[in-house]
Amino acid sequence: MAEREAKIEGVAEVSAMPRLNSLLANGDGKIHVSLSFAVDEQRLRTVSGSASGTVTQTCQRCLEPVPVDVEAEVNLAVALNEEQAKNLPRYYDPLIVEAEDIELLSLIEDELILSLPLVAYHEDCEIQTSFGDADEAARTQETKPNPFSVLAQLKEKADKS
Ligand SMILES: [Zn+2]
Repeated sequence: MAEREAKIEGVAEVSAMPRLNSLLANGDGKIHVSLSFAVDEQRLRTVSGSASGTVTQTCQRCLEPVPVDVEAEVNLAVALNEEQAKNLPRYYDPLIVEAEDIELLSLIEDELILSLPLVAYHEDCEIQTSFGDADEAARTQETKPNPFSVLAQLKEKADKS
């Protein structure tokens, strides 16, 4: 594909990316992927491009779904093994190709996960503004598991056994 300078345009379903999907409120959403294959001046086979889309996370203020934009940029060079990967110019990330098994979607998924906000919320979340200090409420919101309740459960199990 690199020799032919192929280009790929496509749409990936969020539900096809299980690790990304597990961080979202639901599996709705599509990621538009645009990739170009090429051979660079050092004869390295490269894959570059971007992926972007809108996914759904849970607003940490009102706990309703909130759309979140995600974006990934990739600039990869093909390596046949770890050793080759180490020797690639630094401006490339290695795409290690073993046999026919290319984990391109998985790499893009990683980048998309990194682009997720640490905390998602509606920009002007109605519920929260009536409480005043939004950040305070976000920090103390009740959906986070309480570490002490986990300890209590463990203790309960220990007592039973
Ligand atoms: Zn909200």
